[in-house]
Amino acid sequence: MIKPELFVRNCEFPDCPNHRGLWRSLLEPQHGYTLEGRWYCTPECFENSAALAIRKLLAGMAKPPGKSHRIPLGLLMLSRGIVDQEQLKRALQAQKDSGGGRVGEWLRHIGAASEEQVTQILGLQYSAAVFPLERSRRYLDCAQMVPFLLLEAAEMIPVHHLPASRHLYVAFGDRINHSALYALEKMLACRTEPCLAVKSQLQKALEDLRNAPRETEVLGGEASDPEEMAGTIFDHAESQSSTDVKISGFDGFVWVRLISPRTHTDLLFRIPKKTSVITMDLTR
Ligand SMILES: [Zn+2]
Repeated sequence: MIKPELFVRNCEFPDCPNHRGLWRSLLEPQHGYTLEGRWYCTPECFENSAALAIRKLLAGMAKPPGKSHRIPLGLLMLSRGIVDQEQLKRALQAQKDSGGGRVGEWLRHIGAASEEQVTQILGLQYSAAVFPLERSRRYLDCAQMVPFLLLEAAEMIPVHHLPASRHLYVAFGDRINHSALYALEKMLACRTEPCLAVKSQLQKALEDLRNAPRETEVLGGEASDPEEMAGTIFDHAESQSSTDVKISGFDGFVWVRLISPRTHTDLLFRIPKKTSVITMDLTR
């Protein structure tokens, strides 16, 4: 992480106390720290910038999700003749009586539709393709791109990666998680294409992945203080001689990638649900 620079660089932390004159910059070799490709002159400038990035991330997580404009699944199934009015009524009543669950689940529960049919209609609802997870286990390679805890949290699996065009196809069980997709795009510098997979197959694939060996994940534990997280990030980055650090996340996870010349390590922080830091002062 510390490397001498032969050319003049200016610290990108806006409140950096060490902005140096040109002659001093030219005479002294500059050591520094990199975050999101930007250079910082001291651990303090790095940590302050990392804390700011985490604050912004947490503020984004605190926003309520936008309203869905999708046609209700039950109506789509009715219009396609998969279920009849009576079956839909029963499923909706069961959903109401139990106080929850998805209509698709209830339609399956009362035997009105199969899991495959529900997935096909979800695909229509989201205008997304259905990925045949049962046909190949190639997802086992792709899925290594993302820490398992994040896959589990969003019930998603990267299933197909096209490095040349930087496309990543990501399968979801019954809900496409757009904040997760956004986090993947930022962290992996790729374009994501969501697709759906039959939920039981997706859960089985997640179980396979849970048992697959992974070497590059570290859990930073529960944390809610951005400054504290920034300090931990700095310590890990230093100990691994990271050349760059990236910060992303979604749904209560801060996902940090420590990049070294030959490998990377993912550091995850879980944000407790009731965190006052979410109503933060972003001007800090
Ligand atoms: Zn600085």
